[in-house]
Amino acid sequence: MQLTELPGIGDRTAARLEALGIKEALDLVFLLPRAYQDRTNPRIIPSLQIGQFATVRGQLISLSERRYRTRRTLEVVVSDGRGVIVLKWFRYGKWLKSNLEKRFPPGSQVLASGRVTSFSGTLEMHHPDLNEASEGSGGGIVPVYPLSEGLSQQTVRRAVRTALANIGNGIREVIPDDIRRVHDLPDLKESLARLHEPLESDDVQALNLGESPWHRRVKFGELLAFQLGLLIRRRSLEGRTSLPVPPFSSLGEELIRHLPFDLTRSQVQALSEIGADMDRDVPMHRLLQGDVGSGKTLVAFIAMLRTWEAGYQAVMMAPTEVLAEQHYRNISHWCDILQIRAALLTGSVDGLKRKEVLQEAASGETKLFVGTHALIQEGVRFRDLNLAIVDEQHRFGVLQRLALGRKGTSPHFLVMTATPIPRSLSMDIYGDMDITTIDEMPAGRTPVETLVFKEADRSRMHLRVSREVQDGRQVFIVYPLVEESEKVELLAAREMAESYRNRIFPHLNVGLLTGRMSSREKEEVMERFRTGDYHILVSTTVIEVGVDVPNATLIVVEHAERFGLFQLHQLRGRVGRGTIRSTCILMEGNNITEEARQRLEVIARTNSGFEIAEADLQIRGPGDFLGVRQAGMPDFHFTDPFRERELMSAAREAALRMLPGGGELDPDMAREVRRMWTDGLLATASG
Ligand code: ADP
Ligand code: MG
Repeated sequence: MQLTELPGIGDRTAARLEALGIKEALDLVFLLPRAYQDRTNPRIIPSLQIGQFATVRGQLISLSERRYRTRRTLEVVVSDGRGVIVLKWFRYGKWLKSNLEKRFPPGSQVLASGRVTSFSGTLEMHHPDLNEASEGSGGGIVPVYPLSEGLSQQTVRRAVRTALANIGNGIREVIPDDIRRVHDLPDLKESLARLHEPLESDDVQALNLGESPWHRRVKFGELLAFQLGLLIRRRSLEGRTSLPVPPFSSLGEELIRHLPFDLTRSQVQALSEIGADMDRDVPMHRLLQGDVGSGKTLVAFIAMLRTWEAGYQAVMMAPTEVLAEQHYRNISHWCDILQIRAALLTGSVDGLKRKEVLQEAASGETKLFVGTHALIQEGVRFRDLNLAIVDEQHRFGVLQRLALGRKGTSPHFLVMTATPIPRSLSMDIYGDMDITTIDEMPAGRTPVETLVFKEADRSRMHLRVSREVQDGRQVFIVYPLVEESEKVELLAAREMAESYRNRIFPHLNVGLLTGRMSSREKEEVMERFRTGDYHILVSTTVIEVGVDVPNATLIVVEHAERFGLFQLHQLRGRVGRGTIRSTCILMEGNNITEEARQRLEVIARTNSGFEIAEADLQIRGPGDFLGVRQAGMPDFHFTDPFRERELMSAAREAALRMLPGGGELDPDMAREVRRMWTDGLLATASG
């Protein structure tokens, strides 16, 4: 049913709802409140606890706008006679201020609901829900919905109620009864009704935490659709055949003989698992996970050699040009040993050279390719692509991965990631892939020593830098770029490079690398750093993934508190690549949050990506797991798949019960699965 078919919803409201992603009446029914206001029992301000979600009733004392440099904050002070709380809005439209001024002149009685925080000893709520206190007469537990510009709570509440009244009765439970019984899940229709119109006796705390039984049902439905999708995808892959590859790889063995080191036990194990996949006539679909520097690239390359020997082609796709070029350099070196060749295809390979590479790909004359997204562009054809490898897979979307797969006929797929996920979790998240984990580092690596410095230690940091350079080593200095203020920050990074160059280390060569540079410029700067021409490389986060300069033994991270845990771990992985003892200095800014402090502590404590991943799951906070959106996963509306581990496992079990070996899904459930995964993805997987 269209939104405008609902009584009371006109074009204007419909357009505003659409800004929230609501396109039809059914979407309204599934628009879950972001919080609940308990109007029956407002709390006394001095009794509020930080972190708690609460409603207070009081008098509006003042409403004002403040400016801090480029930022604006709208502040409303409310007092209930016992205490004072400041309500704050950041990043808001002009309409909000005039709207609040109109509705709440000073002195009005208001109800405010939100999560309680504090700043310099004063209680605050950020982006709370604000109502006239009289609206609350009637009391009860009232849902608070997400809003878009121009929408008010009242409008959304009314729209949801209308939608429920009109189509609520048609909502059918799609989870089979026996599964619901096992997992103790209420009926869908009832759940939605209760989520939108809770009873006065309902547990408001559980509702606010998203832990009510009604929430559980909705979340479970989403996770189940996800797991069923994985299962269907997996089954459709099992049904395909890949080109047979002869088992023996003498080239691989020859390469290993020529390498100045032995493979680690983990690498050998990974190769045997990959080898077993390629023995079968079903395409491999394997995730190779291992910490930064654990030697995944070499393992992947040896798999490529096996395709080479069979006379087929293999590609390795990386997310950035710098990374693709680095893989290419490594691979070319190994190819030289074997006297074979590989080709590079990135956005910067153009003109005649590009034509040549495309020609080699189409004719099958060249068998091994390394590149970026340029590999999956239209017009790039391979004669017989048999193995597709994707590095740092979380940076690619599923569609890009599929596009690469379509360049061959059911090629083997190997995706690599340095974002390790605890095993129990990866089973649930990557259920459609087999997983190989490299869990040891090459011998002879010394763990990187990690130090946290405060601003006051800055001169000590300078000393460490110059000492490192005196010893003939090189140094990375990383500066964070926050997207919203990219220009300002970029300027700051430039200024910092300038001040290092001219004032702090006038006798040293300092290079600057930023994401804004063309890839040619970037490559030039990297080359000068690699050859030792630059002693110090100041860079924004472009060096995050994969850059390999063994002589760099110190990395300094400015404003380390602004980076996610895993970003820090990856940055640290830039050093410690040789046998020389390396150091990572995390410069901690002033006034950092408790969560940021915990992050720095974790990084300083351990070098293990897996431990860091576990810690990241412990430290709760907004945003995606490890600060990296895992591309390749559909969107989740009701759950954070990385946090809901128990429910996810339960959903996986349920999916296996619903599709044992084969069988068909209930058509309504099948529609849910398609809705989640979008028709395209499942269709591509099965077609
Ligand atoms: P990853 O891709 O897992 O981050 P790389 O493949 O880039 O790691 O490996 C980092 C470096 O270690 C490379 O220079 C690689 O040649 C080297 N390397 C790989 N395997 C071993 C090993 N078994 N022993 C010593 N060095 C190794
Ligand atoms: Mg790598």
